Amino acid sequence: MDYWTLFSCDPSFFEVKMQCKRCGRCCTETEMELLPVDIERIVKLGIDIRKFVRIDDEYVRLRCAGKYCVFYDPEKKMCKIYEHRPIGCRLYPLQYSEGEIYVDPDCPAHDTIPRSEIERLAPYVKAFVEFSRMTRLWLRIRYGI
Ligand code: SF4
Ligand code: SF4
Repeated sequence: MDYWTLFSCDPSFFEVKMQCKRCGRCCTETEMELLPVDIERIVKLGIDIRKFVRIDDEYVRLRCAGKYCVFYDPEKKMCKIYEHRPIGCRLYPLQYSEGEIYVDPDCPAHDTIPRSEIERLAPYVKAFVEFSRMTRLWLRIRYGI
């Protein structure tokens, strides 16, 4: 199965098995990139695309409202669309830069991720970063924005 199809299938596959402390740090001042499948999944909830999408030059990212992601509830400390959250949010704190997969040390649970989990998801983190570059073009074609 190619990555494009895989990203479209089961978002839960991309969830990092870890002991998340639900601190909300990754939902604060987020610059998370979105894939087309993320946008379509959230739009299907009846949410206006302009309320959660931010165009940042050639990237398409989650929008913040003030300090937090538009979908974060700081009082309940939870994501309001948790079951539908983007693939990048599921892959966090795995990151990819200059050919290397690494765990973001800013995540307080970064040391709870088993090595096997990093190895399982490493190819998809790289693919996610590469595919997210195509979202801007897709947005122009699909939504004209
Ligand atoms: S920063 Fe890490 S521990 Fe905190 S909510 Fe995000 S994934 Fe969980
Ligand atoms: S979509 Fe949810 S998990 Fe992702 S940054 Fe926003 S509030 Fe956090």
